Amino acid sequence: MSMDQNSLLEARKNIISVSRELHEIGLLVRTWGNISARVDEEHFLVTPSGIRYEDLTPEMIVLVKISDLSYEGDYKPSSESKVHAACYKVRPDCGFIVHTHQVFASCAGTLGLKKVFTYEGDEDVMIPVAAYALPGTDKLAENVASRVRKYPDNNSFIMANHGTVCLGKDSGEAVFEAKMLESACLNFLADVCKTEMVHGVESEYNSYLDDEGNIVYAIQDTPERVKMIHKQIYLKRPDVRYIIHNRSEAVTTVSRRANHMRPLLDDFAQLIGTGVKIPSNADEVFHNIKKNVNVVFAPGDGAYCVGGSESDAMAVATVLDKGCIAYTAVMRHGEGHYLSLFECIKMNRHYRKSYSKLADIGHK
Ligand SMILES: [Zn+2]
Repeated sequence: MSMDQNSLLEARKNIISVSRELHEIGLLVRTWGNISARVDEEHFLVTPSGIRYEDLTPEMIVLVKISDLSYEGDYKPSSESKVHAACYKVRPDCGFIVHTHQVFASCAGTLGLKKVFTYEGDEDVMIPVAAYALPGTDKLAENVASRVRKYPDNNSFIMANHGTVCLGKDSGEAVFEAKMLESACLNFLADVCKTEMVHGVESEYNSYLDDEGNIVYAIQDTPERVKMIHKQIYLKRPDVRYIIHNRSEAVTTVSRRANHMRPLLDDFAQLIGTGVKIPSNADEVFHNIKKNVNVVFAPGDGAYCVGGSESDAMAVATVLDKGCIAYTAVMRHGEGHYLSLFECIKMNRHYRKSYSKLADIGHK
């Protein structure tokens, strides 16, 4: 079987509409995650690397050869194409794949478990977890493929410390899997943490720098002690232009109880840093303003998430909330699998390098 140009165009449009749907319900955020569709025995279409879902057009969806990952056109296929290709090889019945960094399933994949046992509706659910490897590596594709091979009846898989892979014969099935998986993992985490789980950014005292370099506070009567923190951040971090004070439930809980956070998830290591200290008193806050660490915790009062733009700061705030949910789950569970410092440093450098490159050519 081989596809004509018309069917290819339809398949490209379908990938875009699925990506918008998953973006709208919050399973896909910014440029993270990716989607693919098999178009014949030898090829699949996949979303490009580093482009926001809002900005996708059909010609950006890349045609990739399953056997050697060669591709056509100007757009680079997603860095996780190896994972997609490996799944298509193992599962000839699979026609559509969704890879996400969705919150609850990703957090369930930080506890060091090989399988997650939970439920969804009246059904018992078992989700296999693929062992960790750095993103974009052959090892990661092998780890995922080995789980997919071992559990041929499963369509949802967790990638440890990273995200998920959901398979379907078509887009409808794969999307259904991704939603089911998130709801099943929410049940799982609620059981582990013995509390209701919520995800989101609850911002309070935000600020930004205007064109003259003045600090503009979102809330007029921002307390002086909070203003001091904002001033110090802008002073010590000339690259920062926007600060989001995140007081979400998970972040506030961690700001009360923990003293140090090591990354449990890839995107934490990439966007936030290789480790974050949580001060026990107000004076310590200023010592924790550091280059390449995009979060400054305040004791018992959430965290300041910083960025060069509002959208960068919001990305940090979103990833921090997820990281704090994972951290809380690991504490409650009693164990977890942390990323090694070596892995974190590698990802953090790589991310900053490729991100500044994207910014340079205007894809920011
Ligand atoms: Zn990913």
